Amino acid sequence: MSPSSNPHPPETMSAALLHGIRDIRLASVPVPHPGPGEVLLKIASVGVCGSDVHYYLEGGIGDAIVKEPIIMGHEFSATIAALGAGVEHLEVGQLVAVEPAINCGHCEMCLTGHPNLCPHVRFCGTPPIDGVFTEYAVMIAENCFPLPAGMSSVAGALLEPLGVAIHTIDLSHLKVGQTVAVLGAGPVGLLVAAVARAAGASAIYMTEPVAERRAFARSYIADEVFDPTEEDVAAKVLAATQGRGVDVSIEAAGAMDSPEQAAEMVRLGGTLVLCGIPVDDSLTLTASLIRRKGLTIKMVRRMKHVYPRAIRLVARGMVDVAPLASHFFTLDNIQEAFEMVAGYQDGIIKAVVQLAP
Ligand SMILES: [Zn+2]
Ligand SMILES: [Zn+2]
Repeated sequence: MSPSSNPHPPETMSAALLHGIRDIRLASVPVPHPGPGEVLLKIASVGVCGSDVHYYLEGGIGDAIVKEPIIMGHEFSATIAALGAGVEHLEVGQLVAVEPAINCGHCEMCLTGHPNLCPHVRFCGTPPIDGVFTEYAVMIAENCFPLPAGMSSVAGALLEPLGVAIHTIDLSHLKVGQTVAVLGAGPVGLLVAAVARAAGASAIYMTEPVAERRAFARSYIADEVFDPTEEDVAAKVLAATQGRGVDVSIEAAGAMDSPEQAAEMVRLGGTLVLCGIPVDDSLTLTASLIRRKGLTIKMVRRMKHVYPRAIRLVARGMVDVAPLASHFFTLDNIQEAFEMVAGYQDGIIKAVVQLAP
């Protein structure tokens, strides 16, 4: 790579800081320097996640509270801008997707194969760690996954929610030919359905209150999509499965009544996977219902080492992530992106902030 196509990074950069509820402001901040084992990334595409919107609207998720101004953003792709000492498997100029969680690697959870539960994790864009709604960021080299030729930076950013979807289907132990319900047709729900299809689901039923999202889900992946504001969605799914219920029911809406609906539409002995983040940080299930059905209940916490599989699913055309990126923004109008996602405006599915190609 010639020096002209790899200019020295500038001293300062533009960053979008969340100061408080519904208050994002641009500021000029220093460009960080990569230490040993780290790389400097020139950020390309960043998806606006539902969890970012929780911070934007509520100022926190559970005990993760925004106390100081923070840069959000964790679903991203980037170009390698500089290598720290000792980094050998990456090259300046490479387009990479980036796993946003830095685990300690030494604790009981890391050592027993559950790095997603590491209590020492540093996660991009989660207080107090800054994320990537900014021009440059430093990341450990192991978290950077080079994208195959032809894969776009936008697809690279969508690998993060796709990773959550892969982890969700892993937890469900879905078997080929089984039936699935996915409650909520936001980006994660849609990708969960897409991975379920790739994994061999024979029927996929979805529920979604927003009309544009129901239409999108029908054309994108679902066999049938029901409206929880107009229909008894559990009765609809039970009718569609001759009263048996689905093998796997996945809650990806984060709504108050969707966990219970998910439990009602799953079969005896089936699996219920809870993936959504409820707004009021509580969850209601009728004890007799889930006990008499003998359900297996799984909670989704981020993901494990799934980026290589996510890249292969997209590269092979088994999951099409591109249609989900429905609206594009820049750092200058990032607040508009958050308002549109928060208000489900204009049929928005995934807002992507593009900083570079
Ligand atoms: Zn996310
Ligand atoms: Zn750990």
